[in-house]
Amino acid sequence: MASLWSPPVTQEADLTGQLFISLLNPGIGLLFAGAFFLMWLNRRERYIAYAAGAYVATACAFLIQDLAPVLPMELQRLPANAGFLLTGVLFAAAIIQRYGLPVPWRAMALTAAASLAVFVWFLLGRPSIEGRIYSISLGTGIVALMVVRALWPIDKPHLIDRLLFWVAALCAANLIVRPIVILTFSGGFADYQGFQQSVYWTTVQFSQAMVSVMAAISLMVAVAVDMLAELRAEAQADPLSGLLNRRGFEATANAALRRCDGDGRVAALLIADLDHFKRVNDRYGHAVGDAIITAFGEIVRREGPADMIAGRIGGEEFAVLIPGAGITAARQLAEAIRAGLSATCAGRIPPALTPTASFGLAASTPGAGLSALLRQADQALYDAKRAGRDRVRAFAAPAPAPPLSASA
Ligand code: GH3
Ligand code: MG
Ligand code: MG
Repeated sequence: MASLWSPPVTQEADLTGQLFISLLNPGIGLLFAGAFFLMWLNRRERYIAYAAGAYVATACAFLIQDLAPVLPMELQRLPANAGFLLTGVLFAAAIIQRYGLPVPWRAMALTAAASLAVFVWFLLGRPSIEGRIYSISLGTGIVALMVVRALWPIDKPHLIDRLLFWVAALCAANLIVRPIVILTFSGGFADYQGFQQSVYWTTVQFSQAMVSVMAAISLMVAVAVDMLAELRAEAQADPLSGLLNRRGFEATANAALRRCDGDGRVAALLIADLDHFKRVNDRYGHAVGDAIITAFGEIVRREGPADMIAGRIGGEEFAVLIPGAGITAARQLAEAIRAGLSATCAGRIPPALTPTASFGLAASTPGAGLSALLRQADQALYDAKRAGRDRVRAFAAPAPAPPLSASA
């Protein structure tokens, strides 16, 4: 991430070309800073602000470096390299913050300060180009390693999560290994002229630009993925009950059922319908009806297992798919909900009102989809309603027809 020196001294002949090249890196930096800033205006997330800051820092560092003819050498090299370190720190913070993990500010600041101190020593105390290369490159490399360490143990469910991890790992490897390998093979530099024409300097400029663009694009994709996930969650949620809506339930339950089928596991479906709900609304008002729906959602979330898929699939109808469970577990959950309904509603609805619900259960059969399971549970629910409501019924497959007797 660090590039340590002023650009090659401009010759009159290639002044325009040199100017163009020296404006390329700050230009890219400012473009990305602007892009992240616009994203941040839309989504006030800290990690996006850090990314914008990282690209402001990188643009400033390159601009300061290009002021070489104006400032004495030492004066411009120090802030330029401090800017490159700051870029690394802010970028690391952006990635770590995206996962809500604690950002190791103190460790990163100490690393940056130490590498800057070593840099100053090799600039003023015992001038050495190699020393300066190692100090900044290793410092930023260690900061990149902190990202690798933070992301190592966490789940990386999406491709973009793995990509961000590998970008950090690649940065760390590039920053730590590159100077060692190339300086070992090239044997150091006699002077700045030699350094500026070296393979090392070319590699730094090229890989810096590549890594900078790759990191920005990865983070932008991450922002897009986060926004899509949020929109999808919103489109599939039912705010009143805090459960999924019908669309969300069907999408998620279908996928879970297919996974169960694939793993040879069973699943159980519970559906519930609030009893005489039209009458409740008519008598006590819609707000009271809504309070009961909200309470129902709360009980389901409280009583149901963590891996259940629960949704409000109709006005006052609910469905819960329990992967890996049979009828017994589904019945226990239904009874727990049924028993807890009035207590959960207490204080939110008139005391004279005792809401109840009827439940239908069905167990999955391999290969049969969600709609078949819903039909069976619906039939069981109908039985519960017919038998007087406020009860749980399980679907019973019709007994196989007796074999036809030959002597009929
Ligand atoms: P049953 O015991 O047979 O289920 O009778 P029911 O009155 O509950 O059944 P019906 O299907 O006739 O009525 C359902 C009622 O649910 C009609 C509607 O007023 C009410 N309802 C549907 N969605 C909502 C909602 O979001 N909020 C409220 N408060 N009421 C709703
Ligand atoms: Mg209904
Ligand atoms: Mg009803």
